[in-house]
Amino acid sequence: MTTPQSWEARAEAATLYGFTDLPTIHARGTVVLTHGEGPYVVDVHGRRYLDANSGLWNMVAGFDHPGLTAAAQEAYARFPGYHAFFGRMSDQTVMLSEKLVEVSPFDRGRVFYTNSGSEANDTMVKMLWFLAGAEGKPQRRKILTRKNAYHGVTAVSASMTGKPYNEVFGLPLPGFLHLTCPHYWREGKPGESEAEFVARLAAELEEVIAREGADTIAGFFAEPVMGAGGVIPAPEGYFQAVQKVLKAHGIPLVSDEVICGFGRTGAVWGCESYDFVPDAIISSKCLTAGFFPMGAVILGPELADRVQAASEAIEEFPHGFTASGHPVGCAIALKAIDVILNEGLIDRVRELTPMFEAGMARIGEKANIGEVRGRGLMGALEAVADKASKTPFDGSLSVSERIANACTDEGLICRPLGQSIVLCPPFIVTEGQMAEMFEKLEGALDKVFAEVA
Ligand code: PMP
Repeated sequence: MTTPQSWEARAEAATLYGFTDLPTIHARGTVVLTHGEGPYVVDVHGRRYLDANSGLWNMVAGFDHPGLTAAAQEAYARFPGYHAFFGRMSDQTVMLSEKLVEVSPFDRGRVFYTNSGSEANDTMVKMLWFLAGAEGKPQRRKILTRKNAYHGVTAVSASMTGKPYNEVFGLPLPGFLHLTCPHYWREGKPGESEAEFVARLAAELEEVIAREGADTIAGFFAEPVMGAGGVIPAPEGYFQAVQKVLKAHGIPLVSDEVICGFGRTGAVWGCESYDFVPDAIISSKCLTAGFFPMGAVILGPELADRVQAASEAIEEFPHGFTASGHPVGCAIALKAIDVILNEGLIDRVRELTPMFEAGMARIGEKANIGEVRGRGLMGALEAVADKASKTPFDGSLSVSERIANACTDEGLICRPLGQSIVLCPPFIVTEGQMAEMFEKLEGALDKVFAEVA
């Protein structure tokens, strides 16, 4: 309820909201939160919400992990801030780079730090453009991604993002090309098998490369499971088919692991789950279990050598952020990696996945759920007006937003994306909390479908 002096009114008065449906907020008020407890967040009125979004996919160890909080406090007490310019960097930065290369799928490599996933994607594109210039191929600048992909919000990463909403910014910039979204259920042609669909997408990539010229393309970026595009797992054999084409033309494959990295799919990396080794990895979010804003580009051996050689040639790589390699962020990341890898969080993802899949499958039996999809502890349920024809609900009904609002009313946070509801709970949820999530979601679905179907 919004009253003149309420938190809700104060939030609306002085904050410019991003990625928020303003009519909904005007009608319902902002949820102003004070803290978290395990997988729950608590608002200024003392209401608890089970956050089935893990914040924004990132708070995988929950909102009050004592080891992470202690690591952050210690790091702040020791060295509260520094940079990584001019040949100086913190000891934590050195240790994190070693750790990231060690846990990466690469035998060796190099790490560059940013404050976010968007900046990490931007940085990777700038590295590829830097190589183009340094290696005497200045025209090698085009970037390939997929429709519906999400790579961030900076001018470059928003151009990589394949969402129509970026038109309001006059984006994408020229030279950012979006291929077919690998969503078999939506994009597959009638009668086309999944293998034929994959072959068609690989042929499309081949055609785009032939049309544009291989020597004009700097790189191909992909999320192993598309996250903000609606949780779209790659079809069987997709990455193998795509990588074969890219390798034949010497085009690097960059795996955007901002969501998938550090456990979400049941392995350390999404590329591990899909059995491919990319040329570079983009990491953020779970890298610090959400306890610090940080991103990283992890270059595999070949790109690491080339970027290093290009840097040596002009005596520096002219790029970096004030807080790149922040000592507190690096200390928290080291602890987060330790927690995720050594406190059994990835094992927990694997343990919980059957229960998660079974809960989703049960809901998928509803007449108005068209598709259930996911991988590990990330999933989506797509609402449809008609299951057989996959016909979506009329957009004006805002079905997924209504479902998410009904969940919020029940004390469950889940995210509407297109006509889907996304679930990606923290890895520390108990079986009881997982059951609570499905029970509340089911109640919300039944309520909304009774209204609209
Ligand atoms: N890449 C992917 C796959 C993401 O999901 C996101 C954020 N949701 C980003 C990049 C951008 O990260 P950030 O919001 O930290 O800039």
